[in-house]
Amino acid sequence: MITDQRKRVISNIAEGLAQHHYKGNATNLLAILSSEGIPVYRDDYEDAFEGMLYFSEGTFSLHVNNRTNVANSKRERFTLAHEIGHYSIDEHRLGLKYGKLKPHGSRLTLSGRDPLELEADYFASCLLMPAKKFQTHAAKRKRFSLEAIQDLSESFQVSVVPTVIRFSEVGTHEIFAVFSRNNTVEWYAKSNDFPDWPFQFKVHGTLPPTTVAGEFYRKTDAKYTGVEKVSPQDWFYPFKDDSRADRQMYEQCYYSDSYGYTISLVWFD
Ligand SMILES: [Zn+2]
Repeated sequence: MITDQRKRVISNIAEGLAQHHYKGNATNLLAILSSEGIPVYRDDYEDAFEGMLYFSEGTFSLHVNNRTNVANSKRERFTLAHEIGHYSIDEHRLGLKYGKLKPHGSRLTLSGRDPLELEADYFASCLLMPAKKFQTHAAKRKRFSLEAIQDLSESFQVSVVPTVIRFSEVGTHEIFAVFSRNNTVEWYAKSNDFPDWPFQFKVHGTLPPTTVAGEFYRKTDAKYTGVEKVSPQDWFYPFKDDSRADRQMYEQCYYSDSYGYTISLVWFD
């Protein structure tokens, strides 16, 4: 967890950089690195790390593992943005410079991260998706659906997962998103104004069986890609007399065949 105050500090640095280096909605990361005089080396580092910021003989350099990060792909952009975070956040840069922090390879995992990694990921999401720009683009669409996320993902050149997380933080529609693999919930993201109802699932437990994602894992031929009507009771235990539960709830799934995960997007009208 990062405190709100710390988030403000980090997003101010990231969004300040993004303001000066962009093309359309996409932040120009290579321009930021070159303006800071940080060379980027792409090489095959086997499965050691995604990216690493390294300080040696008075200079920083950035190393990207091209085994997993195709040059200029969305995944590489997130890796670069994360490492720019380690450079731009004072405590990270000074720690690396004065040897208080060991150079560390960053990886793509979303649970059980140490605070520095969480801060660098948060920095990356602010750098790649500055809040106002993100909201302006999202507001062009009247109705929410997976298409809105995919459109943002293309426009800002960021993968679907960080786009969903960013949308849950600063998006233009309240959403609830559940990330699952093998019928097991790995984590979820929720907008602040989405109802705080208890869940019909536990993190690391199985998905509720009647949800779209739950059916996908339990049945064959149940890979529904469209917007499906679900009941709030499929996912939650809505509070009694909470009229928000009377609204129509929708679920739409994003299936990543190559990485073997599913994201359920859940929202109301
Ligand atoms: Zn890192």
